[in-house]
Amino acid sequence: MKFLPIFLDTHAGPILLIGAGDPVRARLRLLLAAEARVRWHATDGDFAITGFDPAAASRIEHVEGDPLTADLSGIAAVFCAGASEIGVTVAARARAAGVPVNVMDDPAHSSFIVPAIVDRGDVVAAVGTGGASPVVARRVRERIEAALPARIGDLAALIGRWRKPVHDRIAHAPLRRRFWERVVDGPIGAAVLAGRSNEADDALTAIADPSAYAGEQASRQAEGRVTLVGAGPGDPDLLTIKALRALQDADIVFYDELVSPEILDRARRDAARIPVGRRVGKPGIGQDAINRLLIDAAKSGQRAVRLKGGDPFIFGRGGEEVEALREAGVACSVVPGITAALGAAAESEVPLTFRHEALRVTFLTAHKARDAESVDWSALTDRKMTVVVYMGITAADAICAGLLAAGRSPETPVGVFARATRPDAKAVVGTLDRLPALVRRIDGGPAILVIGDVVSRSAPWRNSNPNSLSQTFRMAAE
Ligand code: SAH
Repeated sequence: MKFLPIFLDTHAGPILLIGAGDPVRARLRLLLAAEARVRWHATDGDFAITGFDPAAASRIEHVEGDPLTADLSGIAAVFCAGASEIGVTVAARARAAGVPVNVMDDPAHSSFIVPAIVDRGDVVAAVGTGGASPVVARRVRERIEAALPARIGDLAALIGRWRKPVHDRIAHAPLRRRFWERVVDGPIGAAVLAGRSNEADDALTAIADPSAYAGEQASRQAEGRVTLVGAGPGDPDLLTIKALRALQDADIVFYDELVSPEILDRARRDAARIPVGRRVGKPGIGQDAINRLLIDAAKSGQRAVRLKGGDPFIFGRGGEEVEALREAGVACSVVPGITAALGAAAESEVPLTFRHEALRVTFLTAHKARDAESVDWSALTDRKMTVVVYMGITAADAICAGLLAAGRSPETPVGVFARATRPDAKAVVGTLDRLPALVRRIDGGPAILVIGDVVSRSAPWRNSNPNSLSQTFRMAAE
């Protein structure tokens, strides 16, 4: 570590900013956002700025004259544009006067450097690379941005407001720390992060004797909840930020067999993980039993996540679970996920609705041949409709026969997309009349079928090389 990260109190004195142009204006923006008073020496005499509210703009003081003789007395820090003799000279003067100085893009002449910043109000994260690579710092910042709840600053602010009252009530420091840990990690913190700060304030107000909060059980009882979370088709990077947050917040995770281990790994380390999946051909524990598990977990005060492949509301029985939870009076919410059709389409470049070519998309399930027989195939013969079939592998013969008999062209391009977005993904494309043969080529599911002209625009259709990395085959010519 070459630099010590510290946070400067911008009320300690005015900040001297020397230079002109966009980088200097960007620095000005940062300083004003940090509530600084800025003495600005625009070396080209152009003090024009836009986009600041009058209160912020009123904290700028214009300075003219020779920047090399600028008054440094009482200055909290100096920022100077780089790449000029001015920077070098200003830096030398500031150092001699004992004022911290930053020359932009010139760590050698700076006594401090400016980190990449994640700004969530009271919560600020600073990322530095010792001046080596601002681009790397920015990438790290992006990751922190993605990992930090948007309202983490509200949580810090709430605690800031309650600090004194709680300090007055709980004199013993270790007890106080434990109290705040429970607030941050428990239902009060969760309420703030979910945008219900009022609830959190009420809860803190209600805790007349905060040490009673140690008997956590009672207050948590009512606070259990279930979040139905869409895990996407397999690639953990396709989890939404909200899904990730729910996983990292969960006390217990009930997951389907479709959910990949890499995704489960993203759950909080000490969260309990309960498989409740059911696969074609194998009995699972049954929907009623799953509903009961979810209700029991929430009623015992746990934050439960019900993790489902793809999206909870696309052939995921999410609707039934939401209704069961509602009937049981359990709070629940739903985080959408990328459904298999969209994951496969993106990965294999199937434009599900191509302009003028596909005006509609139908998501269909055909679990067994029996199900397929009960589908009204005549509603699916429109050439300008893309049909996506979930759970259609074992019923491929019946699907093919049904569509052909209803009049969809045997030449219709079709694709079978297995294990989409996973490392062992495989796509097989051909024509509708060959669908049963195509399905036999995928070596196992889960897989979706996509039927429609747009499949001919997909990457596997364009690329018929069987040795290609993506393991795609085109069988139309066989
Ligand atoms: N809720 C899920 C679907 C569950 S039904 C979703 O929105 O994706 C299970 C079916 O989803 C499987 O039979 C298969 O047809 C499809 N499926 C799920 N994951 C898949 C994947 N990675 N690749 C292809 N199909 C998938």
